[in-house]
Amino acid sequence: MANSVRSIGNRPPAEIVDAAALDGAHHAVVVIGGGQAGLSMSWWLGERGIDHVVLESKTAGHEWHDRRWDTFCLVTPNWQCRLPGFPYQGEDPDGFMVRDEIQEYLAAFVESFGPPLVEGVRVSRLRSADGAFEVRTEQGATLTADQVVVATGPYQIPRTPRMAERLSEWITQVHSSGYRNPDQLPAGAVLVVGTGQSGCQIAEDLHLAGRTVHLATGTAPRVARFYRGRDCVTWLHEMGTYTRGVDTFDDADAVRFKTNHYVTGRDGGRDIDLRRFALEGMVLHGRLTGIAHGMARFGTDLRANLDGADAVAEGIKDSIDAYIARNGIDAPAEERRAPVWEPGPEAEDPAEIDLAAAGITSVIWSTGFGRDHRWIELPVFDGRGYPTHARGVTSQPGLYFLGLPWQHTWGSGRFSGVADDAEHLVGEIERVRRVGDTSVADGLHWLAGTPSSTFPEAQHADEDWIAPRTVA
Ligand SMILES: Cc1cc2nc3c(=O)[nH]c(=O)nc-3n(C[C@H](O)[C@H](O)[C@H](O)COP(=O)(O)OP(=O)(O)OC[C@H]3O[C@@H](n4cnc5c(N)ncnc54)[C@H](O)[C@@H]3O)c2cc1C
Repeated sequence: MANSVRSIGNRPPAEIVDAAALDGAHHAVVVIGGGQAGLSMSWWLGERGIDHVVLESKTAGHEWHDRRWDTFCLVTPNWQCRLPGFPYQGEDPDGFMVRDEIQEYLAAFVESFGPPLVEGVRVSRLRSADGAFEVRTEQGATLTADQVVVATGPYQIPRTPRMAERLSEWITQVHSSGYRNPDQLPAGAVLVVGTGQSGCQIAEDLHLAGRTVHLATGTAPRVARFYRGRDCVTWLHEMGTYTRGVDTFDDADAVRFKTNHYVTGRDGGRDIDLRRFALEGMVLHGRLTGIAHGMARFGTDLRANLDGADAVAEGIKDSIDAYIARNGIDAPAEERRAPVWEPGPEAEDPAEIDLAAAGITSVIWSTGFGRDHRWIELPVFDGRGYPTHARGVTSQPGLYFLGLPWQHTWGSGRFSGVADDAEHLVGEIERVRRVGDTSVADGLHWLAGTPSSTFPEAQHADEDWIAPRTVA
């Protein structure tokens, strides 16, 4: 690829700014987190000549190295990688970068502008003190800042349901963020729990490697990879789907926390069709509802889950058809697909299986992530610990978030939209610096507040410090 330099996740921490110089320093802006969001923020701050430092607990962009499996590739086409001043310039804009290429792209971005980055420094406390922000690090430094951008990632804490504790000890358990390849697991069948993007792609990875896979499905929607001659992402981009603000939806939080559509970029991109996997021998189940005495229990929702995912995919195709018709676009016709497999009667899709009898020796929990913001001692969170904000601007003057899923648009937590959000924040940061105006937009608190009806109380009763689950 044209803009490659070197891989970043596997190099030792490089102090591009001396960590020792942090203690007692004051900066106009401190950016916390050195993933694509923190780096994009730094790019914009640099463009505007604003003094700042980026504090990264490990190495910049390490998530793409440390928490993705070996065959991982982007689901979004390469042309959607639009880091500020550094759009993808390789030879395969419609392709999907594999894990190493993503790291190279990020490393090249870092080298392109040399951010004031300190790696190996974890921020352990953020509070206001004497009219400024006080930032403490685990390494013992205390620095201050006029303004702070929190870019600590959308998928922080792997979440595993507590029923995992009831699995026998001879079963190997891995969260999707710790899955690397089939050889990491003992011989035998694998139960993958969850059908978000990670669950579906990991199930496919194991299936292609010849492993027997049981897949506990959820309500994640599906999208076709290609339709009527183009990648669906290309159609949806043209249709304005990815730049629609979250505040234009009736229930912003339902949009914000829903599971991503499943599809893959593997081998040039294709659909993920669970029904086809079933025809080929994958064992599909409804939602995993319980584990006890060596048995796993599943809900009776398999048919509904498959039908629901297909209905979403077909609905997206309907909207593409309407767009094509409305604009008189010359696009090839394409037949809709009929389901290639249907769940059997209850006897064929048992509500319970004996894990040992089914030969299941490992379980992969593709059950999402939570966030932990307890180290931020500022009154900007809702009842369950989610930061209330309007496009990243909080009610605490000078405090911002960047990189949250659907912070503003579909692309906010992804390569495609983070640059636009960072540009928006740099405008806010400049405005505050220029006029000292720290007034907050009306209604700010409510934009990201979550109606309790969206998330049944029982789901999060003992976790009021963790934001709602997000599934990647
Ligand atoms: C399985 C999966 C597949 C994905 N596929 C795609 C895709 O195809 N296309 C796409 O555009 N996006 C995709 N994404 C979404 C998104 O692009 C990534 O999650 C990306 O890593 C988000 O970048 P970020 O900078 O916001 O967060 P992160 O990459 O998580 O970076 C946050 C950084 O903050 C650091 N940090 C955290 N806490 C602290 C602290 N207290 N002090 C200092 N540093 C701290 C972390 O070490 C980390 O480096 C995917 C995500 C997942 C999980």
